[in-house]
Amino acid sequence: MTTKARAYAGFNKSSPLGPHAIDRRDPTPNDVEFDILFCGVCHSDLHTVHSEWPGTVYPCVPGHEIVGRVTRVGSAVKNFKPGDLAAVGCMVDSCRDCASCNAGLEQYCDRYGTVFTYNSPDRHLPGQVTYGGYSSKIVVHESFVLHVAASQAKNLAGVAPLLCAGITTYSPLKHWGAGKGKKVGIVGLGGLGHMGVKLSHAMGAHTVLFTTSAGKVEDGRRLGADEVVISRDEAQMAKHAGSFDLLVSTVAASHSLDPFTALLRRDATLVLVGAPEHPHPSPAIMNLIFRRRAIAGSLIGGIPETQEMLDFCAARNITADIELIPIQKIDEAYARMLKSDVKYRFVIDAASLKE
Ligand code: NAP
Ligand code: ZN
Ligand code: ZN
Repeated sequence: MTTKARAYAGFNKSSPLGPHAIDRRDPTPNDVEFDILFCGVCHSDLHTVHSEWPGTVYPCVPGHEIVGRVTRVGSAVKNFKPGDLAAVGCMVDSCRDCASCNAGLEQYCDRYGTVFTYNSPDRHLPGQVTYGGYSSKIVVHESFVLHVAASQAKNLAGVAPLLCAGITTYSPLKHWGAGKGKKVGIVGLGGLGHMGVKLSHAMGAHTVLFTTSAGKVEDGRRLGADEVVISRDEAQMAKHAGSFDLLVSTVAASHSLDPFTALLRRDATLVLVGAPEHPHPSPAIMNLIFRRRAIAGSLIGGIPETQEMLDFCAARNITADIELIPIQKIDEAYARMLKSDVKYRFVIDAASLKE
């Protein structure tokens, strides 16, 4: 059995998004159903809707930074009840029984069983793909539903972006040891980058923001950067040569990595989380060989770490800096994102789906 939900979808790679009705399954024994209140707008939504990555199935309902209030739960659900706050990020299921899933790293499911929140085959509704948070409600297995602290309830719109932008920066910062005594660089001040700056600062690292936008220097400092570097200014970049313990790059476009690998100390790592449509040019190998430097990638974060990140943020009152928009402005938001004009995450007010 299914019920209809209101949604906004992309119907092909170039037309504006528009209203669309979707099916949501009735909760099975382990499912949580909730009304969506807010959904953040990630650059991945744009990459997917515009078919910049392979495999988009249309109609495509994006959105994976979802916060809402529980309406119904299945008979076996223990950790949620109607009225609770609930959140869902980039995944709604996985095989739940491989080494990675058992380690709480469901995003790296060894059986490629990760079911992403949108554009993945839907196991419950054969022939359909999953539909994301640009919609009025969602039904998700309770193991993939996160708790939002009551103390964060006053700013749920600011909590939504933690579900992707937050965890995607928190996870590599933790994995590669950001903290006191470490010099950490965040590259790009958009949705992910501004959370990276806040989280790196909160972990106690000396945090340096790299931006291409001279107009973002003051904001970078306000958000927690100890220093801000204009990455296209060679003289500013040269001052930091060989000095970083970790760089996390959130850049959404193809560019040379060499100016950044040159900033790493011996044994330090440049972690790429930005996933541009076209690959970066092959990096200069000598930059890597001579100081045993590494380039790595990182995909969102597992469910236990996502809850840890939400709790970390709740304890420190960390939320995203957002611009709240009605769903009808989504194409305008995408156009501004392409101009790096995001301050610093668009969040959809799901109430606008009723208009
Ligand atoms: P965003 O809000 O659009 O921010 C991207 C930032 O990159 C821009 O604000 C800009 O910052 C910088 N930038 C853009 N074009 C650039 C260029 N040509 N050269 C240098 N810098 C440029 O995007 P987002 O939502 O944070 O997402 C960033 C990327 O991460 C996207 O590719 C997205 O798909 C990917 N992503 C990956 C994961 C993962 O798990 N790995 C998760 C979520 C998103 P400045 O103005 O400061 O230069
Ligand atoms: Zn995302
Ligand atoms: Zn698995």
